[in-house]
Amino acid sequence: MIGEQYLLLPGPTPLPDRVARAMSKPMVNHRGPEFKEILLDCTEGVKKIYRTQQNLIIFPSSGSGALEAAIVNFVSPGDKVLAVSIGVFGDRFAKIAAEFGAVVDKIEFTWGTAADPQQVRDKLQADVNKEIKAVLVTQNETSTGVFNDIKAIKEAMGDHPALLMVDAVSGLAAVDLRMDEWGLDVVVSGSQKAFMIPPGLSFLGFSEKALQVHKKCQNPRFYWDVTNALKYLEKGQNPYTPAISLYYGLHEALQMMLEEGLDQIIARHESCRDMVRAAVKAMGLRFLAADSNASPALTSVIAPEDPGANKIRKYMNEEFNIILAGGQQTLDNVIFRIGHLGYVRELDLLAVLAALEMALLKFGYKLELGVGVNQAQQFLLKKHNQ
Ligand SMILES: *Cc1c(COP(=O)(O)O)cnc(C)c1O
Repeated sequence: MIGEQYLLLPGPTPLPDRVARAMSKPMVNHRGPEFKEILLDCTEGVKKIYRTQQNLIIFPSSGSGALEAAIVNFVSPGDKVLAVSIGVFGDRFAKIAAEFGAVVDKIEFTWGTAADPQQVRDKLQADVNKEIKAVLVTQNETSTGVFNDIKAIKEAMGDHPALLMVDAVSGLAAVDLRMDEWGLDVVVSGSQKAFMIPPGLSFLGFSEKALQVHKKCQNPRFYWDVTNALKYLEKGQNPYTPAISLYYGLHEALQMMLEEGLDQIIARHESCRDMVRAAVKAMGLRFLAADSNASPALTSVIAPEDPGANKIRKYMNEEFNIILAGGQQTLDNVIFRIGHLGYVRELDLLAVLAALEMALLKFGYKLELGVGVNQAQQFLLKKHNQ
């Protein structure tokens, strides 16, 4: 099949040519002046995306690595932690905390719904002795396509001193997040989602308050230690060999992101979501997430029971070279997920919607060809002519 594959996963996401080319540059000394400049530029650039002027460390790891870094640097064994979970990644954050000795109280919400800030408020108000040291929450739950209202959750914490730790791996730069303005203490993100570079770098932003907690934190750590990382960052270095090529890519991607502007990037993701939902709705399919908390990063579509989600995905892949994500755990074969995260063009999504209609028809689902595509075109026409 000719042409590029349409990789519409909620990570890894497609690479812009500019990024791919930047990554092919030769190696430099990771303790020399060229790398120093790149490291400092990248750190400042990622801070802009976080909307923070506090601390930020870049790790050579997948997103889960930085989730572990968040736990081992800011949570001690025996600490009580409130984990707010709305899906697979909320569960993962809770599990990492438990593995490192935290006493985890988990509030779970039905998959497909967002967390209710009132329940967080109730839990913290009941904690009169202030034993809860941290609240863990996912900004954008990739397994369900739902985003949480992080600002409301922070407000619900009131004056409780617990750290608010946010997994923003798939949400950052797709869903609004203001680390300093909202008073978030720890924010984790990763390279292969909205940042438009390959997997392999993760980001850990943390407040001055979190840094004070870190200084007394009892968990053992070496690779993830932020004291050491901050010390080296002052010299423009990493404590150990950084993933130099990925930094080249990040440097270029940040340039692209700052050229486009953060507000425009978020608006672009919201617009892709709205277009995809309008089209899929016209096809008569339902969503896992309600409109109010539907993720701008990806759309979870409930597949017709017959044939189920996976046959549709397989057909889209084999016939049209389009890759969609499936459902995880209990959602396997129930939903498919259309990623519209990172470097995704709206016209590419139009092609995906057209292929989806053909796939549905092929499996005997009743629809009039073009109903969804028509909605998407109407959406685009309106958007481009206003
Ligand atoms: C992708 C993702 C992660 C991290 O996954 P890795 O595979 O370790 O990079 C964590 N949380 C969320 C919400 C994610 O989408």
